[in-house]
Amino acid sequence: MIPYGKQTITDLDKQAVLEVLNADFLTTGPKVACFENAFAEFIDAKHAVAVSNGTSALHTALAGLGIKPGDEVIVPAITFVATANAVLYQGAIPVFADVNPLTLLIEPEDVERKITAKTRAIIAVDYAGQLCDYIALKKICRRFQLFLVADSCHAPGATHQGKSVTHFVDAATYSFHPVKHLTTAEGGMIASNCGNLSEKMRVFRNHGITSDHSQRQKEGIFHYEMTVLGFNYRLSDLQCALGLSQLKQLPEWIKERKRLAHYYDNLLKNQTVITPLSLQSNSTHTYHLYVIKVPRRNEVIARMREKSINCNVHYLPVYLHPYYQEKLGPGRVSCPVAEDSYQHILTIPLYPGLSSQEQEYIVESLLELCSI
Ligand SMILES: *Cc1c(COP(=O)(O)O)cnc(C)c1O
Repeated sequence: MIPYGKQTITDLDKQAVLEVLNADFLTTGPKVACFENAFAEFIDAKHAVAVSNGTSALHTALAGLGIKPGDEVIVPAITFVATANAVLYQGAIPVFADVNPLTLLIEPEDVERKITAKTRAIIAVDYAGQLCDYIALKKICRRFQLFLVADSCHAPGATHQGKSVTHFVDAATYSFHPVKHLTTAEGGMIASNCGNLSEKMRVFRNHGITSDHSQRQKEGIFHYEMTVLGFNYRLSDLQCALGLSQLKQLPEWIKERKRLAHYYDNLLKNQTVITPLSLQSNSTHTYHLYVIKVPRRNEVIARMREKSINCNVHYLPVYLHPYYQEKLGPGRVSCPVAEDSYQHILTIPLYPGLSSQEQEYIVESLLELCSI
């Protein structure tokens, strides 16, 4: 079976984790700051805060920005449920904006239509691996005094107008789940250029306590203070060591993902039945996913499985999940482009190590199934 995504673990990664197992700190040790600093440099941010996963990264960012019950936060209709769930964790209300039919990125014009007196923030999702139109989004945020968060879980290393996403947003969040570009098994990070926000997020991920265990041990202090209600969202030294080692290889893997995506682009030229998503102008794409639109998607995905090719669908519009239908009222929210796109989108396999022959087999199979 060809999976739709797969992690890469090298001997260097294994060595890095073993070293921590033999060291003094399994968690809250020196590897955390090392990983944070290296990630901040990679993503061109002044600060990075490591957390337990991409979902806690979103929650921590919203808590750090002071999103509170009754606030509205605008999110795209097509994203992983975690983007909207994080808004609910703060007691706030996710408001769904429609996406662009060609890129599936949040549509700034629809964002503007959804703004009310209660709107406090926008979470843009860098779907599939390319950055949203941050020039337009930032303009809206300035005009209406909103925070801008990037859920950039799909797009580490991508740029818009030659700049990292951190240049445009208050905070950008990342996930290190095994299907993402870089893995720590479970893990996440928030990058930000704001020192004050980063400090708040650091406290929030450690129960709301203002000093950490190793700091106190070093200084021989037993007293600590909890100042806000935080969570235990820490990332362990074992995971940070793995992340550090993976990060060194990330530029190579991004290059490889781009090469594989361009090969798909080539194989899909000169036909009209399968439509790959378009590129957002002025953005670079680091290809977490390769997404196409096909006719009779459900049948195609089932038939691809029979050919030992595991495709996937990213994503059902969040508000169509039963939980959200019940919460928001059945049929109350409608994003027509997202709903129509959902009928056609298909994610085909993409990961470093996928061979040209496998890519050719995947595209041949798709063309055969879609041309019937
Ligand atoms: C993976 C992902 C998340 C959540 O990350 P976890 O590490 O699984 O919690 C959030 N948003 C998007 C867009 C993702 O792809």
